[in-house]
Amino acid sequence: MTDQQRYEQFLNDFETLVNMDSSSDNLDGVYEVALYLAARLEALGLKAEVTRQGEDGVPCLKACTPSRNGRYDFMFLGHMDTVFPTGEALRRPFSIKGDRAHGPGANDMKGGLLLAVNVVERLKEEGALEGLAICLAFNGDEETGSRNSRQWIEDAAADCDRVLVFEPCRPGFRYVVNRKGGYRVRVTARGVSSHAGADPEKGVNAVVELAHQIGRINALNRPGSGITAQCTVISGGDKTNIVPDEASVDVDVRYSTMDEMREADAFFKTLSEETLLPGASVEVALRGQRPPLQSSPESEQLWQQLRRAAEKQGIDAGAISTGGCSDGNWTAAMGIPTIDGMGPVGENSHRVDEYMELKSIIPAITVVAELCKKAVSEAT
Ligand SMILES: [Zn+2]
Repeated sequence: MTDQQRYEQFLNDFETLVNMDSSSDNLDGVYEVALYLAARLEALGLKAEVTRQGEDGVPCLKACTPSRNGRYDFMFLGHMDTVFPTGEALRRPFSIKGDRAHGPGANDMKGGLLLAVNVVERLKEEGALEGLAICLAFNGDEETGSRNSRQWIEDAAADCDRVLVFEPCRPGFRYVVNRKGGYRVRVTARGVSSHAGADPEKGVNAVVELAHQIGRINALNRPGSGITAQCTVISGGDKTNIVPDEASVDVDVRYSTMDEMREADAFFKTLSEETLLPGASVEVALRGQRPPLQSSPESEQLWQQLRRAAEKQGIDAGAISTGGCSDGNWTAAMGIPTIDGMGPVGENSHRVDEYMELKSIIPAITVVAELCKKAVSEAT
């Protein structure tokens, strides 16, 4: 297949995929995406299976070449869900303006899923696929924290030597080698309600207690620290003449290293031990914890191989750190060399103006295909 034919085929597939609504809560839509990609991969000779994972039954697609004694050289990781509600694809279908593709999930990350498929196809055409063992794993709930698929990802990754995550590449071919980890915390303060005018002394003001705790949480944002803790959504009180007995705040917590993760954990685990008001209590609930994607000597080696593969295509690839999490955070925490941002170049994920750069498609396919061949030949 010529580059031009591959490009045209990519655009056809791309339009079809972007026009399939697959919001994280639209399991039928995610399933449709999974079936479409499974058919593409089966046609390339891979063994594909679509299963339902977790208590919500989230569709997940796994497609593999034959393994090498049970192991795979690479996992290609990605997610099929988007943040956009059902109906978005009809309102704002796939479109091309100039050099950019638009539509729900065009950048995050239907382009990346297709790129992974195209890498396999290219390797097969070159006769290189037989020397490689590759396992593609696409889940359907990444945008909501991968609660249903985390175990499934980790089980599959345990058999893989390296993980490439096909989230979008950043403009200028900057790949993601470090990602912050994080979680959401809800802090709830409880007190005692009373008449705010007649007998306030009988009350314990939960809003005041929460304000105290917010001050403590905010102090985690120190200059030079990789920890950020942003209080974002707050609620408390019911009527203006009642001392409130309950108030809560949601906190977005991020950290760059495992040490910082442990520091943040210790802070929130002991938060409730120190209250301002006698009679007040504080409860802390953690949700959706992801460890940081921290680089290692092995991932640094993989990055250098990637950088050289890009250089051969005339691309001056860069490495960046980002505050956003992906499923690569799980695999990196397992000690598997993981690099993210292997998808086409694009920007503005989770926004209606997200776009993918069409000119990056063919170079990005070539770079990943070269990396796969190089990493394995240099390892043996
Ligand atoms: Zn994504």
